[in-house]
Parts: sequence; structure tokens; C-alpha cells
Amino acid sequence: MSRQPGAEEFVPETTDLAELAAAAGGCRGCELYRNAERTVFGAGPATARLVLVGEQPGDLEDRAGEPFVGPAGRLLDRALEEAGIDRGEVYVTNAVKHFKFERAAAGGRRIHKKPARGEVVACRPWLVAELRAVQPDVLVCLGATAAQSLLGPSFRVTAHRGEILHLDGEVQIPSAPAVVATIHPSAILRGPAEQRDEALAGLVADLRVAAGVL
Ligand code: SF4
Repeated sequence: MSRQPGAEEFVPETTDLAELAAAAGGCRGCELYRNAERTVFGAGPATARLVLVGEQPGDLEDRAGEPFVGPAGRLLDRALEEAGIDRGEVYVTNAVKHFKFERAAAGGRRIHKKPARGEVVACRPWLVAELRAVQPDVLVCLGATAAQSLLGPSFRVTAHRGEILHLDGEVQIPSAPAVVATIHPSAILRGPAEQRDEALAGLVADLRVAAGVL
């Protein structure tokens, strides 16, 4: 694991989401702030009972400063609607708050790069602070990065997706939310076109499990 100083020293002692978001704008807990445009903090009501956690902001999110506003976000919106979950009542965030990417060529397109475990752990204090502020009843981890941030590095989404789980001590949240792990919507977009309907149906089924806990 690459050594990163971590976000801990930048996280203020508050459960006010606006204060947390403002402080995250100055985070230097790992190297990812250097190349990204902005910190992308979570968004949604502080009263949300359901929190969705993705991997990291993408290209469009980095420019907009908002999570899940790109193609994966639109697919997530569709999946939430099909699962009967009101997007307006959900808090959405990411395990890592800065966009990690590499350039296709000098000055070229920015291509998503998976964050390293050290970066995920470095950024986790922000995620924990958000969860302590929102106190959700249910947490949905979208993809392996989010799931492994909260459930440990050996957790496998493929083995446990759609199950009702609980935080195992890797992080502690007073509301002790139920946890459901599923795929990230970007995995559906990256996958074969002829398998997208089936993959989307799987995501919707997992979201229905989460909705059923509420
Ligand atoms: S990715 Fe997270 S820990 Fe790293 S600088 Fe950004 S906010 Fe801080």
C-alpha cells in the first residue's frame, strides 16, 4: 500500500455536511488533489435514510463538482427509479473525493484510473464523517472500491452482492446501518452492450434489497 498522510487532520469535528464539504475542499490527505479540478463531496439530504457510496468522481463530476452527474449517474438514476427509490431522498457520495485519471495523450482525454488502496484509506475519514453526519439506516456500496473501503480489502462483491450485511469493524457508524454491496453502474456501461439489460436488472434487484430494509 502506498503511504499517504490521510485526510484525518483535515476533517473538522462537526456533523454539519456543508462545513465538512467546505473543509474537504482544502484536503491534502493524498496526492490526488494535485491533478483534479475540485473536491467532489457527497450530495443529498442530511436526513437521508439511504446512502449510496461509489468509487470516485469521474471526468464530468470533477468538472461539475457534483457526484453522479455523468453517464453512470444517469444510469444509477434509472436503476433507482426502477427499484422504487426516490433519488431526492438519497445521499450519494464516493469512497474517494478526487478524480484519479491518466491522459490518453498529452493534453488528451482524461481516462479514469482506479484509486489505490492507500488512496481509498487516506480518503476514508471523509466518508466516515459523512456517514456519522447522515446516520443512514442502509448503506449501498456501488462496486468493489466502496465495499472494500467499508468492509475490508478481502471483501468480494461478486461473492456477496445483494446480501444484507453489516459493518465488520473496519469502520464504526453509530447508526449501525445495514449494508448492501452491488456493482457500480459504470461497470454496466463498460461491459458488453448485449449484456447491459441483464446487468441493469441485477443492479435494480440489489437496490430493491436495500429498499426493503427501509
Ligand atoms: S482524494 Fe481524499 S484524501 Fe486524497 S486529497 Fe482528495 S479528499 Fe483528500
